[in-house]
Amino acid sequence: MSSYDYDLFVIGGGSGGVRGARVAASLGKKVAIAEEYRYGGTCVIRGCVPKKLFVYASQFHEHFEDAAGFGWAVGESSFDWKKLVAAKDVEIARLEGLYKKGLAGANAEILETRAELVDAHTVRLLKTGQTVTAKTIVIATGGRPNPHAALPGHELCISSNEAFHLEELPKSILIAGGGYIAVEFANIFHGLGVETTLIYRGAEILSRFDEDLRRGLHEAMAAKGIRILCHDTLQKVSKGEDGLILETLNNGTLQAGVVMLALGRDPNTEGLGLEAAGVAVDERGAVIVDEYSRTNVENIYALGDVTNRVQLTPVAIHEAMCFIETEYKNNPTRPDYELIPTAVFSQPEIGTVGLSEEEAGKRFPELEVYRAQFRPLKATLSGRAERMIMKLIVDAASRKVVGAHILGHDAGEMAQLLGVTLKAGCTKDDFDRTMALHPTAAEELVTMYAPSYRIRDGKRI
Ligand code: NDP
Repeated sequence: MSSYDYDLFVIGGGSGGVRGARVAASLGKKVAIAEEYRYGGTCVIRGCVPKKLFVYASQFHEHFEDAAGFGWAVGESSFDWKKLVAAKDVEIARLEGLYKKGLAGANAEILETRAELVDAHTVRLLKTGQTVTAKTIVIATGGRPNPHAALPGHELCISSNEAFHLEELPKSILIAGGGYIAVEFANIFHGLGVETTLIYRGAEILSRFDEDLRRGLHEAMAAKGIRILCHDTLQKVSKGEDGLILETLNNGTLQAGVVMLALGRDPNTEGLGLEAAGVAVDERGAVIVDEYSRTNVENIYALGDVTNRVQLTPVAIHEAMCFIETEYKNNPTRPDYELIPTAVFSQPEIGTVGLSEEEAGKRFPELEVYRAQFRPLKATLSGRAERMIMKLIVDAASRKVVGAHILGHDAGEMAQLLGVTLKAGCTKDDFDRTMALHPTAAEELVTMYAPSYRIRDGKRI
């Protein structure tokens, strides 16, 4: 009989924490999980899932416009923001319920309280003040938007958290940042009829993606009417008579109804008792872990965004499953971060897996780049000017496809499947041998027979 109250105590009810708690409980371990806000975490409550619902909502006005080319006359349309928020909230509550149901079904104890570490085996539950002990502890408290406290007037700005519950849709919005969240929300707000400006410090949005897609998306967004200001930053935000006044470094004074900061996310470790438990953090406050997600304290693990590895839901879930193998199945398993497919739900969408042309150019002496840019079939009748871009990056020596990049409709769906082919180590010859499926956009991926150009020693030839 263990001398602890629990075999496992998980702090944080997001993607990683819930998965770890549920599976450990289903293995017969005595498990408790504590969450201070809502079960489901960032992804379900104020991230991926509600964001995607908003993306769908924001696409309808283009669908209505496109309909005319196919013979449809769509009557006058209008949009009700409050209705969308309410419908989204119902769905999110349903999903939250499913998360709890899964935990309860596995016999994990669900605690609705903030929990803080007292020492390496003891946790205090803030709601009751009670302390409990556990043999193993998992920290899975996720992250939160970087408040950019150095910006004068930052307290007047919102983050993605508030964007999901705005009382009213503003007439105009300025979004600071050039990453996933900034770009996705710029497209959402623009699609819902808000005059949208994006301000980004670098030369081009989405700094970690393939240059071609970054440029292609920028052009497509600008053509829709989204104002993108690169090489610029906010200097000050203040209240004006009619909304907010923004001082910028290079574009003078601007105005906007709402300002949203999307400048990265910080790990949620403040006040968690990490020092008391002896758990080390890095300079950004992220919990430091080894390759098995174990902290410097033997019995404490950390999963997901709180560790500042790859901030993606499926990665946190994978880390949780590896933790289960390591801790409970006598099978030490390191999370595998190679070839993670990812999508930016912009409009058009980006879907990508593997190395960008720039990164691959640094790793391989010679590359073949296969690139197609075309008007998708639907756009012929709709008259929409959008172009799709597809790119395969191939290591010339091994013929392996080391990167696949798509800009256009359903790029995320395609990237998921391309992820399987790259993970399996498919070569360009495997792609060539695969029969095209006609008429689809994805068939371009198996019909690009001749390289568009080559890269030797990092230079295009
Ligand atoms: P990102 O890291 O994607 O982007 C942060 C942006 O803020 C970058 O453009 C960065 O610029 C800029 N930035 C950072 N600090 C400053 C500063 N001090 N001044 C000006 N600009 C600054 O973070 P997000 O907040 O967009 O998203 C957080 C994470 O959540 C993502 O990394 C992603 O992993 C995940 N996510 C995934 C989604 C998906 O899978 N579709 C959707 C949304 C989020 P620079 O590039 O120059 O560093």
